Amino acid sequence: QQHQEGPKPPPKAPSSPPLPRQNSKTTPPSPPKVISDKTGRLQFDRVGFLGEGGFARVYEVKDQRGSRLACKVVTKASLKTKKAKTKLYAEIKIHRSLEHPNIVHFQECFEDSDNVYMTLELCPSGSLMDMLRRRRRFTEPESRFFMVQLIGACHYMHTHQVIHRDLKLGNLFLDANMNVKVGDFGLAALIENPGERKKTICGTPNYIAPEVLFDTANGHSFEVDTWSVGVILYTLVVGRPPFQTKDVKAIYKRIRDNEYEFPTERVISSAVQHLIQLILTPNPAERPTLHEIVDHTFFTQGPVPAYIPTSAHDAPPDFR
Ligand code: ADP
Repeated sequence: QQHQEGPKPPPKAPSSPPLPRQNSKTTPPSPPKVISDKTGRLQFDRVGFLGEGGFARVYEVKDQRGSRLACKVVTKASLKTKKAKTKLYAEIKIHRSLEHPNIVHFQECFEDSDNVYMTLELCPSGSLMDMLRRRRRFTEPESRFFMVQLIGACHYMHTHQVIHRDLKLGNLFLDANMNVKVGDFGLAALIENPGERKKTICGTPNYIAPEVLFDTANGHSFEVDTWSVGVILYTLVVGRPPFQTKDVKAIYKRIRDNEYEFPTERVISSAVQHLIQLILTPNPAERPTLHEIVDHTFFTQGPVPAYIPTSAHDAPPDFR
């Protein structure tokens, strides 16, 4: 039995006392081997480490029936401020309200004395970002497949008044059958009144819509996800994000100036270039709707594979 305990696995001597951490501020103690809620109704065996993000660490766990799940752990020590608590409660409220085949399923939420736990559907195949690193770029048929699933999830979120606000390859997980699962609702927002605009500047530099950065007076809404969908499509077929450059300030300048190019050293279809240009329209009101996007010739006049073989993790599949 192999256990992965975190970024730096300790020597495997289960009976030896835990070693003191070098930096307890950045590396909180591991959650218990058996994670359970206060009543003991829920119990999970921690079996591996999956990754960490801004404020959470994610472990692989097994429930009492032996099913594998992901368990997102947030230390209560990191929830001292009201702001941090409000953020986490918003993430939980939004994520647990969503049920869609292309959204990471939210199972349970509970706490013990040290942590808040969220059990989630396990995505054992990593993210599209991990896969892109191995593959460098995706074929257009594969990109259609992933995009149709992403746009389906996005449409579902928007009809449920949720803006994700952090759609990027690293938040698009894959299940064992290569289906896309949108995850990480840490920046998601609920639009509670029609026409409401959000003002918080948030997102990931490469994927952030211009109105989030430059129209702070007006605020932003659902179209920010559409923008990210365009950045994602570009990144899938080109292999790097469109506005990528050395520093964040320069990225923002390029987003402001709508400055991006398509590489000329290989064929990128004019259909996909045209669609990307449509989506990356600076004015959010002029951006195409999700329906218009899937009606574009890029989707209607090219093959959309029924499924992606797992061999695609490492090599382009042959769809002929
Ligand atoms: P944060 O909200 O702190 O950014 P994330 O939700 O992005 O945390 O998760 C951090 C990392 O944990 C991810 O990059 C990924 O490696 C892993 N992870 C998150 N959710 C899952 C999941 N459902 N299945 C497998 N791995 C996951």
